[in-house]
Parts: sequence; structure tokens; C-alpha cells
Amino acid sequence: MSVSVTQHKQFIGGEWVESSSGETMEVLNPATGDVIAEVPRSTAEDVERAVDAAKKAWEEWRFKTPKDRMELLLRLADLIDEHAEELARLESLNVGKPWGVASDEPGAISDNLRFFAGAARNLEGKSAGEYVEGYTSMIRREPLGVVAGICPWNYPLYMAGWKMGPALAAGNVQILKPAEQTPLTLLRFMELAQEVIPAGVLQVVTGDGVPAGDALVRHPDIRLVSLTGDTATGKLIAKNAADTVKRLHLELGGKAPMVVLDDADPATVAEAIKVGGYFNSGQDCTASSRILVDKAIYDDVLSETVKAVEGMSVGDPATDDDLDMGPVISAEQQERVLGFLERATDAKASIVTGGGAHGDRGFFVKPTVVTDVAQDAEIVQDEVFGPVVTVQPYASDDEAIAMANDVRYGLAASVFSENVGRALKVAARLDFGTVWVNEHLFPLASEMPHGGFKESGYGKDMSIYSMEEYTRIKHVAVKLAE
Ligand code: NAD
Repeated sequence: MSVSVTQHKQFIGGEWVESSSGETMEVLNPATGDVIAEVPRSTAEDVERAVDAAKKAWEEWRFKTPKDRMELLLRLADLIDEHAEELARLESLNVGKPWGVASDEPGAISDNLRFFAGAARNLEGKSAGEYVEGYTSMIRREPLGVVAGICPWNYPLYMAGWKMGPALAAGNVQILKPAEQTPLTLLRFMELAQEVIPAGVLQVVTGDGVPAGDALVRHPDIRLVSLTGDTATGKLIAKNAADTVKRLHLELGGKAPMVVLDDADPATVAEAIKVGGYFNSGQDCTASSRILVDKAIYDDVLSETVKAVEGMSVGDPATDDDLDMGPVISAEQQERVLGFLERATDAKASIVTGGGAHGDRGFFVKPTVVTDVAQDAEIVQDEVFGPVVTVQPYASDDEAIAMANDVRYGLAASVFSENVGRALKVAARLDFGTVWVNEHLFPLASEMPHGGFKESGYGKDMSIYSMEEYTRIKHVAVKLAE
């Protein structure tokens, strides 16, 4: 059966335009490997056009009232809700997300935009008064100007939403770049929103990390880059942004431990691993990829986990709305994940279940559980970003905390215990930006910050804290009449 290939343009200066080079790039359905769309391959010249349009737009947008900014964000949220099913189906097709994963996202995105619609009206400077005799000082909280958001492929529209909410609420204008693999939902959202977004206030360039993303990072008139992506990309961007002393917000990789204390219920833990480790095919920066279990219940937790994982349904989300797991994003990602497993096996790890490609088309990896891994093994230390969890025993709570913290990442972690006092004691010692107790992955709430420590980056998404990233503080001092 032939698959229809849709053609797209990028949204610059309120218009739909081709790349200045005329080049396009292909977008695939990862469940089949078929080409489903072509989008412009942006150039540095395209970025320049977008920055020019953004600078013009900012002159007006920066002086809009909080009420005006709120109204735009509320309208954008309504558009997402009105087209929720369409956007979720498109995300499912482009990322290979099971319906259960994709269908939850539009509601979370619109809720986030509504939170920032409210936040737009609550921004304040902290003090105004006479701190030096004869002068009144005030503190203004201002937008930065033109900001850029560079998005990953695992939650394409979701991460774009996390960036556009605080950026627009604070009075910035923004240029977004979706990941090259997954531009479709953001482009569709812009089609839906084009009538309500003033030209140049929110723009989308589609293209590769280099040159398109790189041109955003190096542009002297862009005041902030917010990246959600790999830690290696974050490090590179930090270097490249240094020449223009650009502010950065970096939401990078993770290697989340799930610490299971000896009084936890093995069946409950196994159900949590099924979600925490394999949601979105494990392509989640907060995925519970390292399960640390007290040796007293290690065998029970492992056997319950293997049972839960072997019961998961895997397939093409287009054919079944009840699947637990779809493919990984690309052939490269599939190869990368399988490479981790091969090297782990070479180092004497045991693959208890899974451990290879699934099916004969698309980019699937079987949900996999790995044991007999050393703490310094690559598969324990590095982000696999696929449906793979390792399970390690430990002998004491102190050892569990040491193992949990012994990675370069610090995004998220969880603790499982029937004793809330013990769980809280462990939570306080875990070096991660989010710690869940008796849960992993959820809940996320628009009011609560999300962001990492250590090499997982800095700055926060969601919550009022993210407004700090997108605003600057100015002191205005006024000489009073004698
Ligand atoms: P990636 O780093 O490969 O790409 C992310 C984005 O950066 C893409 O849009 C890409 O085009 C762009 N990019 C690449 N090189 C660039 C450069 N030199 N200059 C400017 N832009 C460049 O990441 P990915 O593979 O799309 O996403 C997966 C990664 O994202 C994982 O490591 C995951 O942990 C992380 N992630 C983190 C969070 C979080 O909240 N911390 C959330 C989701 C994903």
C-alpha cells in the first residue's frame, strides 16, 4: 500500500515559507519506516529572517498588557483542546507513541498554557521605595527579547508547549525549532494558531541541529536558548553560546534510579517499573532505567518485574489503541539501544527478558530487563533512552543512596517503601531535581518545577520558577524633587 507524503513549509514572519536553499528533509513513521512528510531543511539565512521578524514583533509585543498576553495563551490552549484528538493521532504517527501515551498529552499542554496565562498577570518586581535619601528605586521584571526554544523528539509538541508558555507570558517573542525527526505536530499547531498569533511573535524553523539550531545558538540578537535534548548537545550549545554571553536553559539527559527499600511490595514495584521504565518506549529523560533493590526482596522484585514486562503488548500504534509500547524513534536509535545491550552482554551482564529487535519492520526494541551489571558499567552510567532497565541489588540504605547518586545525571529519582519516614529520609539524600515516593514518572503538575541537577542541566520548566528563566530584573532609580 502506498503511503501519502504530506508537504510542509516553515512559519516565519507570519508566513509559510520554503527553506532559502529549497532543500527539504524527510519525516518517517517509526512504526513502519515509511516516509510520511517532507519539511524544509532550514538554513542560517532562514534563522536570520526569523530573527528580523521577531525583533520587529517584539517592539509591540513587549508592551502588551499582561491581560493581552493571557488572552493569547488562553486562545492557544483552547485550540489545542479543540484539536486534541487530531494532534494526538499525528504525534502517535510521527513518534510511534501508543494511544494511551499520545492521547494524554494535549490536555497536559493546554493546562500548562493556561497556567502561564495566569502567571502573565502575576509577574512582579519585588520592591519599590526610598533606599537612598532623595531617590525612589523600583524593580522592573522585564522580558528578555527574542528567545529560542530547541526541542527534542520524544515529546515534540509537549516540550514546545513547555517553552512557549513562559516565553510568551513574560512578553518575549520566540523562535522554536522542533527536532528533525518530529516537526509535524508543532507545524500543525502553528497552522491552527496562525490567525491569532501576531506576525513574528511565535515562529517555527524546521531543520537540523546544524545549521538551523546552531544559527539560533550563535545569533547575537537571541537572548536565551532553551534546549531540551541530550547532555552532549547541551555541553556543545553552552560552548557555542558563550561568544554572545547568551542565557541558557538546559533540560538534558537523565538516568533515574528507582530505590526499592526492603519493606516495599514487589508486585506494586513491578507495575511501577512497567510504566516508569517503558512509557514512550523508555524514551523519557526521567525513565526509571536503574532499579536498585534491597537484596532481601531482590528475587521477588525481579521475578514480578519480568512477569509484568513479558505481559506488555508491543506493536504499531496505528493498528491498536491498547498497546503498552510502540517503536523507538529511528533506525539510529534502535541501533544505539541494541549496541548498549551487546556491549553489556560482552561485559557479562545477563539479559533476563527481551534483548533484541522486535518484528521485521519499523524500529522496535523488545522491552528488556538486564541484571548482573557493575555500578561502573556503561549501561548503568549512560543514558540508553530505550526500553531497557537494569536491576541491581544493594545491601543497605546507605549503599542504595550512594549507588543512586553515582551517575553524572541528576534529573529524577524515586523511592519505594511502606514507611514514609524512611522514604523521606532517602528522598532528602537523593541528588535529583524530582523525587517521587511510591510512584515513578507521574505526577507532573503545571504548578511544580521540572528540571535537573548536575549534568542534567539547569533552569526549570513549568511552575512560576520557569518565569525566572524568561525574565530579567532592572533597577530604575528616580531622583525626587528637592
Ligand atoms: P538531541 O540533543 O539530539 O536534539 C535535541 C535538539 O537539539 C534537536 O532539535 C536538535 O536538532 C538540536 N541540536 C542538535 N545539535 C545542535 C547544535 N549543535 N546546536 C543547536 N541545536 C542542536 O536530543 P534528542 O535526541 O532529540 O532528545 C533526546 C534527549 O533529550 C535525551 O537525552 C533526553 O534525556 C533529553 N530530554 C530531556 C528532557 C528534560 O526535561 N531534561 C526532556 C525530554 C528529553
